[in-house]
Amino acid sequence: MRSCDVLIVGGGPAGSSAAWQLRRAGADVLVLDRERFPRLKLCAGWITPEVVRDLEIDLEAYPHRLLTFPRLRVHWGRLQVPIPCVQHSIRRFEFDAWLLERSGAPFEQHNVRHIAADGAGFVVDDAFRCRWLVGAGGTRCPVYRTLFRDLNPRASELQIVTLEHEFQYDWRDCDCHLWFFEEGLPGYSWYVPKENGWLNVGVGGIAERMKRSGQDIRAHWAHLAATLEGRLAPGARYEPTGYSYYLRGRVEVVRRDNAFITGDAAGLATRDLGEGIGPAVRSGLRAAQAITDGKSYRLDHVSSASVMSIGRSMLGRAAGAGVFSGRSPRVPGGGPAHGLRHRDQ
Ligand SMILES: Cc1cc2nc3c(=O)[nH]c(=O)nc-3n(C[C@H](O)[C@H](O)[C@H](O)COP(=O)(O)OP(=O)(O)OC[C@H]3O[C@@H](n4cnc5c(N)ncnc54)[C@H](O)[C@@H]3O)c2cc1C
Repeated sequence: MRSCDVLIVGGGPAGSSAAWQLRRAGADVLVLDRERFPRLKLCAGWITPEVVRDLEIDLEAYPHRLLTFPRLRVHWGRLQVPIPCVQHSIRRFEFDAWLLERSGAPFEQHNVRHIAADGAGFVVDDAFRCRWLVGAGGTRCPVYRTLFRDLNPRASELQIVTLEHEFQYDWRDCDCHLWFFEEGLPGYSWYVPKENGWLNVGVGGIAERMKRSGQDIRAHWAHLAATLEGRLAPGARYEPTGYSYYLRGRVEVVRRDNAFITGDAAGLATRDLGEGIGPAVRSGLRAAQAITDGKSYRLDHVSSASVMSIGRSMLGRAAGAGVFSGRSPRVPGGGPAHGLRHRDQ
């Protein structure tokens, strides 16, 4: 049986952030994930300046695709409003693998099935023993299922359903576009260009409300595809894939003895825009600090609304406070695609 002080289940942003912080404090950590990295993760890959700051990422040195948006283009009916604020796009396929590698933590590919308390610690699948256990396994995290589900049942009215596709496309419009409540969608759809010829488009909405009003997410997808065909992505061919996750509700218990839940495992995506990377990173860092410094693990500083972060960025730009810390595209426009691709897996 392999032993370590801290076992992290899940190597996404929550798990790799916790691992990075723990390794910096010299802790004995092991990360388990059922997938081999780089792995596919359905996600638009929009990240905020807070994520960059929390993870101390040097944008110029980041070795993969990263595009900085000086504005968001928000569409609401016939209105189109440019929101001047700094945001970035990355590809999760690249970003997650890079974060995990950067953490310096040992990694093992393993699908966690069984977790048992063992004295002051835990035994996982009769193969791993640890004192501390960090649940960072996303929506279906086994740590959440085994130790926290009874304490924090997920609220069905906060479940989001999504359809999205990320593909190579020589885009021309380098802004991020968001369409709210189109055709009665209880959510929004997006167009998120990535550096060097990749594009992510998708639709997300609250599952229960869609069901109640007889809406089908595929009809919303067709509407988005028609909108994109007009100007933003003419000739694009789609193979959308679906996924669901939970917006932040009442998360009562995030620590139980020496076990923690973080990121999507705790259901921390923001209520307004379903932003989950920032909350995953912040909660992973906080869980790690609770282990290394004995701090209490609370979610006060894990934002539940993206609009706050966007507002801060807008104010910073208006005040000329140097908040525009972006990276210029290395190739103008969509440009040729290169680097890691899905099919390299
Ligand atoms: C279509 C879509 C678009 C999105 N767009 C954005 C966006 O643009 N910006 C944003 O901020 N958020 C976005 N989100 C939300 C965001 O993707 C998640 O909130 C974020 O990935 C949460 O990170 P995490 O580390 O908690 O979980 P994950 O990234 O899901 O990582 C969990 C890891 O745990 C592993 N795992 C699961 N079960 C096991 C097991 N039994 N054993 C071992 N390993 C296991 C998985 O393989 C995975 O690697 C989007 C979500 C969707 C579905």
